[in-house]
Amino acid sequence: APAPPPARHLFSDPAEVEALRGNLLAWYDKCKRDLPWRTLAATEPDVDRRAYAVWVSEIMLQQTQVATVIDYYNRWMQKWPTLQALAQASLEEVNELWAGLGYYSRGKRLQEAARKVVSELAGRMPRTAEDLQKLLPGVGRYTAGAIASISYGQATGVVDGNVIRVLCRLRCIGADSSSPAVIDRLWDMANALVDRSRPGDFNQALMELGATVCVPKAPLCGECPVKQHCRARRRVEKELAFASQKLFGKPTPVPDVEECGVGGCPLCPPAAEPWDSSLGVTNFPRKAAKKQPRVMRTATCVLERRGCHGAPEYLIVQRPSSGLLAGLWEFPSLPLAQDLQEEKQREALADHLQAWMGQPVAAGGLRLIGEVVHIFSHIHQTYVVYSLPLEGDVTLDPASSPSRWVTEEEFRASAVSTAMKKV
Ligand code: SF4
Repeated sequence: APAPPPARHLFSDPAEVEALRGNLLAWYDKCKRDLPWRTLAATEPDVDRRAYAVWVSEIMLQQTQVATVIDYYNRWMQKWPTLQALAQASLEEVNELWAGLGYYSRGKRLQEAARKVVSELAGRMPRTAEDLQKLLPGVGRYTAGAIASISYGQATGVVDGNVIRVLCRLRCIGADSSSPAVIDRLWDMANALVDRSRPGDFNQALMELGATVCVPKAPLCGECPVKQHCRARRRVEKELAFASQKLFGKPTPVPDVEECGVGGCPLCPPAAEPWDSSLGVTNFPRKAAKKQPRVMRTATCVLERRGCHGAPEYLIVQRPSSGLLAGLWEFPSLPLAQDLQEEKQREALADHLQAWMGQPVAAGGLRLIGEVVHIFSHIHQTYVVYSLPLEGDVTLDPASSPSRWVTEEEFRASAVSTAMKKV
């Protein structure tokens, strides 16, 4: 077993842990945001429905802001108020409702897992964090802990981005917070800290603190309910006191910076990147540099025809059922080689469209509209947008992927990505 971390990075005083729990919960009771899934979790007597509601909200909240999620969550719960209702939905319906929320595989996996609960677990959600993680596809350690603590009252901690930030600041953890060793320590800490009688509220309070007070760039330390337990803040205060003593010419003892010692501590900032006074508490957390996103260019064509009532209609085609934006609909698109000249990309797109339509498409007829940039988590995508108005009817090649003509209104209600809406 690895050696326990130095006391400076732990909560080893039971009285302090008690005080921290009390302060955080009192703040949460007073300041928590009113969110639909919280209301449901607090009032729904049926434990499976409660767990289902928390699960849906937690999956939607991964990578997405609360303000965006609320509307999607309400529509989802209205359409599929129970696991059984969701299990009967089609993937197309799920994608349509999810359209615009991003990371589309989340919706798909949620629905697959709901089917599993209904068909293999008799409609009963697993009752512990361990079983939730083991039995439900797409449910990781965090989501399992959130469902179990909030819906069942299991005293188990959670670690998400907000919790990482708060804990790293509370305990001056400056080692790479995305490394498995640090993440393991943070889970130990979260499990030790969680309030035994109100675990769901405690976990939500810790996350809420990270989302609203202990925010990444300019944390509101003065308003923080746990500031007296925060070692990063204590360090900042000591430095300020030291600086003002120096200013007034008072004797200046070397400030006690509470480092663990030079090198060797697995949780302190690396020796090559020591504490930077100008950053204050935002010295923590620290992450290894992110990989640069992949740069991609894609030609896309808005094919337009007159519908039966004279209103314009647009061709959309379905993407493959796996990979990026799986199963979503888009204007016919073609990934481009980098640095391809405009003339060449136009020709490549014309060839691609010809395969769809089963008839020659003149490259010269394609009108270049402009470029649209969309950032996916790991891809910097530029869509080069063309349009092509069509005369007369077009018979689409049935051997190609599914395709259909839609009005603008139908387009907006379809399972299309935010990037295509921008296009
Ligand atoms: Fe975060 Fe500041 Fe509170 Fe410390 S005192 S937990 S840094 S908001």
